[in-house]
Amino acid sequence: MKILQNRIFRAILAMLCTICCVMPLTACDRSDGKKVIRIGIKFDQPGIGFKKSGTYVGFDVDVAKYVAKKLGYSEDQIVWKESPSKQRETMLQNGDVDMIVASYSITDARKKMVTFAGPYFIAGQDLLVRKDEHKVSGPNDLDGKRLCSVSGSTSAIAIKERYSSKVQLMQQPGYAECATALFSGIVDAVTTDDIILAGLATASRGRLKLVNKPFTAEYYGIGIKKGNTGLAKKINTALKDMIRNGSWKRALDDNLRGTGFKPNAKYNPPIPQEGEK
Ligand code: GLU
Repeated sequence: MKILQNRIFRAILAMLCTICCVMPLTACDRSDGKKVIRIGIKFDQPGIGFKKSGTYVGFDVDVAKYVAKKLGYSEDQIVWKESPSKQRETMLQNGDVDMIVASYSITDARKKMVTFAGPYFIAGQDLLVRKDEHKVSGPNDLDGKRLCSVSGSTSAIAIKERYSSKVQLMQQPGYAECATALFSGIVDAVTTDDIILAGLATASRGRLKLVNKPFTAEYYGIGIKKGNTGLAKKINTALKDMIRNGSWKRALDDNLRGTGFKPNAKYNPPIPQEGEK
């Protein structure tokens, strides 16, 4: 009798687990009984969020791991999901992920759809050009130029609105595609945050260079489902910890090694206090 009861109990448990993992819940149990957290990152941004033969590396990955740990999830309880710029809000709204750590700028427009914790880093929008390019030394040199950026990013819009209505803009799903377009001469420059471009320049082994004239301030936040202020508070506590105890600096140094890129010390590290009200 007891064995039977046990079996029934286990069958129900297994069923609940299956339902739970199919449904978009925050902490869902795997069949081995461990809860998991689903985190959206980029897969194609070296130094930030990068998929490298089945592993995930970069500053965003390290920040995500640190925060997850503080929330009670070890590394093997993290399920990494690719969250391209354009899909971030929808992924959070649909509950496909529990949080997004993907060079995700906090903006008023996005705050209507998602809640942000952070900021945990402040980048600046910049330009990436071919090594032999000498005419583009800032955003004011872009008249008539062909530019690549990523759909759903803040980067493309900023150029059009603030610098040149005369740029020809090509939009791609990811920054790797933009870098390819720049290599092949289809565009004259790629625009997005300096820290992303620095990673791409390094990966190009000197064929591409960062212009290094940042012209915006991008406050990187951790996106979560709208209204989850309790979680935002917990994430901010984790981020403050990470900054205070030196893990933040270590993660940044480790991931930027070899790029020659220096984050703006006037802004970094920032004070994480978003989304708590
Ligand atoms: N930080 C900018 C944004 O959130 C550009 C980088 C990106 O596309 O992830 O839109």
